Amino acid sequence: MKSGKLLGLGFDAVKSNFTELDRPYKMTFAITYKCQSRCLTCNIWQRKPVGELTIDEIREFAKKNGYFKWLEITGGEPFLDSDIVEIVKAFVENSKKLFILTMPTNSLCNQEMLAGKLKQILDMGIPKVSITLSLDGNRELHDKIRGIPGNFDRVMAMARRLKELQKEYKNLFFVFGYTMSRLNQGHLEETINDVIKELPWATANNFHVNVGQLSGMYYGNEDMQIAADREIVAEEVKMLIKKRRTEIGMIPIIEGIFLRKLVEYVTTGKSPMKSRSMDVSLFLDSYGNVFPSIMWDRKIGNIRETDYDLGRIWLSPAADEIRKSIKDGKEPDSWTACEAYQTIVGDIKEAVI
Ligand code: SF4
Repeated sequence: MKSGKLLGLGFDAVKSNFTELDRPYKMTFAITYKCQSRCLTCNIWQRKPVGELTIDEIREFAKKNGYFKWLEITGGEPFLDSDIVEIVKAFVENSKKLFILTMPTNSLCNQEMLAGKLKQILDMGIPKVSITLSLDGNRELHDKIRGIPGNFDRVMAMARRLKELQKEYKNLFFVFGYTMSRLNQGHLEETINDVIKELPWATANNFHVNVGQLSGMYYGNEDMQIAADREIVAEEVKMLIKKRRTEIGMIPIIEGIFLRKLVEYVTTGKSPMKSRSMDVSLFLDSYGNVFPSIMWDRKIGNIRETDYDLGRIWLSPAADEIRKSIKDGKEPDSWTACEAYQTIVGDIKEAVI
């Protein structure tokens, strides 16, 4: 049963190597900008969001655009959106081949509430539901960067809870998401070791790293000095590559390529591959604005202005203009997990070079 859905995702991903798809298969959707963290690397928590898409609007959007196979729900803290279960349900009911759902969490929501909502989501039968537990350092460092005393311990508690839930739900996966910045440069290895002390089953494979990015439109952090020392970060990523155990499967292979290209990105400051945003993927913010990605402040349209039909935006001259800019290499340089996976899968030949 699930293999059919997997093949569906694989078919679109592989097809995107050879031809332009008429619709995206992946959407990153910030369902709310509410956030109870106080991060030193991001200003989303400072926002006071008003007028975000309602559940009725999201249902209408999901109904009119039922072709997503990979949904990345983000925030803010997505579990602060009281409609999160209904939002996922709307996409499951309409995007019949939805194969992957990914969601981050800062682990600050009430654990019972989060686990209850997550179970309802897992029961919907999506083949792969992957949670990223944000973790930027050991106990002292993480709490400092995130601005919340006790946050590290709550991440550990959430990891134990998810590990328990995995016994019941084979479609549940989770990783620690480590954002590298000048605030935690040089601390990745000790963070991994400290987590292993807390959680003896954890390994380096449970860590997913990203380089902290600047994005005025998304993080509101364009004036922050968060860039890490390139050499230090490149060495840390190489260390992670060495520590990772070999795993079989498509995702570990893609993750390996992602890390290898991340070394290239931090060393050169240039995108290691041409992005596939507006080709296979897009970013939708909580107000209905459509962008190529979280990293590029080029609004293409708003679903409230097209009666929630993404097709009218996707096929518009503004979207074509963005595609041309990407082809001409005018997209801002970046290499984020949100964009990298579909970029790798959509250009296997270049990715393995
Ligand atoms: S990085 Fe995540 S947790 Fe921190 S303020 Fe931004 S949205 Fe909130």
